[in-house]
Parts: sequence; C-alpha cells; structure tokens
Amino acid sequence: MLNKPITIAGGGLAGLSLAIGLRERGVPVLLHEAGRYPRHRVCGEFISGVKGSTLEALGIADDLADAERNGKAKWFREGDELLDSDMPEPALGISRYRLDQRLKERFLSLGGRLREGSRLGREPREGMVWAAGRLPKKGGWIGLKCHLQDFPMKSDLEMHLGANGYAGLTPVEDGRVNVCGLFKLDRSRKGRGSGLLLDYLRQGGSEELAERIESGRPDEESFLGVSGFELGWQGGDQSLCSLGDAEGMIPPFTGNGMSMAFESAELALDPLVRWSSGSAEWDASVSEIHRVAKSRFRRRVANAMALHKVLLDARGQRLISAISRTGLLPFRPLLSLVR
Ligand SMILES: Cc1cc2nc3c(=O)[nH]c(=O)nc-3n(C[C@H](O)[C@H](O)[C@H](O)COP(=O)(O)OP(=O)(O)OC[C@H]3O[C@@H](n4cnc5c(N)ncnc54)[C@H](O)[C@@H]3O)c2cc1C
Repeated sequence: MLNKPITIAGGGLAGLSLAIGLRERGVPVLLHEAGRYPRHRVCGEFISGVKGSTLEALGIADDLADAERNGKAKWFREGDELLDSDMPEPALGISRYRLDQRLKERFLSLGGRLREGSRLGREPREGMVWAAGRLPKKGGWIGLKCHLQDFPMKSDLEMHLGANGYAGLTPVEDGRVNVCGLFKLDRSRKGRGSGLLLDYLRQGGSEELAERIESGRPDEESFLGVSGFELGWQGGDQSLCSLGDAEGMIPPFTGNGMSMAFESAELALDPLVRWSSGSAEWDASVSEIHRVAKSRFRRRVANAMALHKVLLDARGQRLISAISRTGLLPFRPLLSLVR
C-alpha cells in the first residue's frame, strides 16, 4: 500500500529536519514555508545539547559536520567576568542562513515538495504537522541579532548579562561572529539596525561590549529583530500535531531551542511513519507525540524558566556574582538542569 502524505506547516529546524527524516523513510512530504530561503533568523546560532544519534536519525548529521565546535564559555555581568568554564560537549556554531538553506536542499534532493511563501492556517487536521514556530502573542520581549565581520572573541562563547536582558556571542562560518540578545521590550529605545542592539546593550550596562561590537564591523544585512512572543509552553491545542517552538519555547540562554526542535522532530518520526503506512490512527499518533514530548521536555523547560527569572533579576544577578567570586558556581550541574 502507498504511504499517505504528510503536510508540514513551517520550514524552520523542526519542520525541515522532520521533513528530511520522513523522506528518508519513504513518506511523501509537502512542506509549506511562509518565508523564503536563504534568510537570516533571530537566533543565537549556537546549538548545545543535541546528541549525534538525533542528527543521524533525522539524516542531517552531514549538514552540521563542518559547524564550528565551541567548547569554552565565559559569562559576564555588565562587563565584569563572572565565569570561565568548559562546556560538557562543544556547542555547534553555524548561521541559520546557511543551515536552513542546506536542509532545504537536502529535503529537495530526497524528493520532498516545498512551497515557499505559503502560509497555512492553524487548524488541526489529519496528516498535518504544525512546526510554525512560537505563537504570536503580546509578549514583553525583543530579540535582536546581527553578524559581526571582524570581532576578536574572549572565549569560544561569550554570554553577557545586563540589567535589561542578556546577549550571547558565538563564532559561525567564514570568520563571522553572531551576536544575539533577548531584552525586555522598551519602546522608548532608539536606533536602527545594529544601533538598536547597541542601544539596548548600553541601557543594560554592557558599555564595553557595545563598543567592541561597534568596532566589529556589523553586517547590517544580517540584522534582524523580533518581538511579540512569550517564552515557555505555547498553550497548544492537544489535537494539533505541534513540534519545536510551536509546542514550547525554552529560554534562549540555554542554547537548547534548536536541539529541542531536532529532538521533537526525532520523537515524531515513528508515530508519523506508522500513520502514513496505515498502521496507526492519526489521533493516536498525535497523542503519542504530545506524551513523549512532554515527558522529555517538561523538566528542562520548567528549570530554564526558573533560571531565566534569576538571570534577569538584579538580586539574582548579584547572587550569581557573589557565588562566582568564591569560584563555587556549579556551572555544569546548572547546565544539566536545562538539558
Ligand atoms: C533571541 C533568541 C535567541 C535564540 N538563541 C538560540 C541559540 O543560541 N541556540 C538555540 O538552540 N536556540 C536559540 N533560540 C531558539 C531557536 O531559534 C528556536 O528554538 C528554533 O528556531 C525553533 O525551531 P522551529 O523550527 O520550531 O521554529 P522556527 O525556526 O521559528 O521556524 C518556524 C518556521 O515556520 C514558518 N511559519 C510561521 N508561520 C507559518 C505558517 N502559518 N505557515 C507556514 N510556515 C509558517 C516561519 O517562517 C519559520 O520559518 C533563540 C531564540 C531567540 C528568540
């Protein structure tokens, strides 16, 4: 019997990697992406916590084989160094501009069908996976990102805490560094392009970082900003087969959102293949995907939301500074709470 086709709404990392994994298993896939490739995305562009076995299962390990390996991290608060630590596993650094384009090409080479510039409606229906990213909401956050063309790093990864948010820097391909910040939205902030990012950094007390970025030759073509979203569970309809950020968005400081997108695609593969081959009902497959996703991600999202509050709170930051001065900040145990 012929496999039934799957339609995917959203060609970000969850949608593209699921589409590739399904094509590898002989499932017909039609992917609708509202935007067009290649394109920059507001993202820190460091992938932390993903297992090689997940990338292999999805059939995308080769697409990440040449990503930068970033094994050391330094944390700062308003310019002062808090922590210098090794990551348990190196984080992968690659731009979304390159990665999403590569995954699109792999999907097409496997016979997948793609409609760019096509936006689907968010109604649950048999055979449709919703991987369209976080839900638009009146949120209190703004994410800003820009590539720097000439930026000497102080470590493989830099994370800067300020009074109004945080920003991470990581090397990506071609000698570029990506800077991406999440800040409390303040509509009185001025500035265009990277100037807006600098304004937010200065407002939060990261003057030295702002100066370094200013002289790091920001590539204005890569600058992007996004607001109107909330972190955490997106309050999804249980009858909708939602994956990745569409289901739940982990706070960005973890560097784990892209891993969660890949992991959620991986855990959806078997239930969707069973539906496609006619050996499972759609509703049963969707319930299984929700159940496995909740049990895998519930603890890490809850921990990350709690730590995110501490990181953005002045007293929380003072506490982190005080503990880090004693050299007793348990970086690895804290990191394991959000993996
Ligand atoms: C400021 C910030 C920094 C971050 N930094 C990091 C980091 O360093 N490391 C990390 O791992 N994660 C980071 N993340 C999170 C990471 O970007 C996401 O977790 C990841 O992109 C989720 O992938 P996704 O496929 O679920 O969603 P997305 O990548 O958002 O993809 C969704 C896609 O769906 C498309 N779409 C939307 N609506 C429709 C529709 N109706 N029909 C069809 N298509 C549609 C969109 O155009 C988009 O391409 C960060 C996020 C933010 C906001």
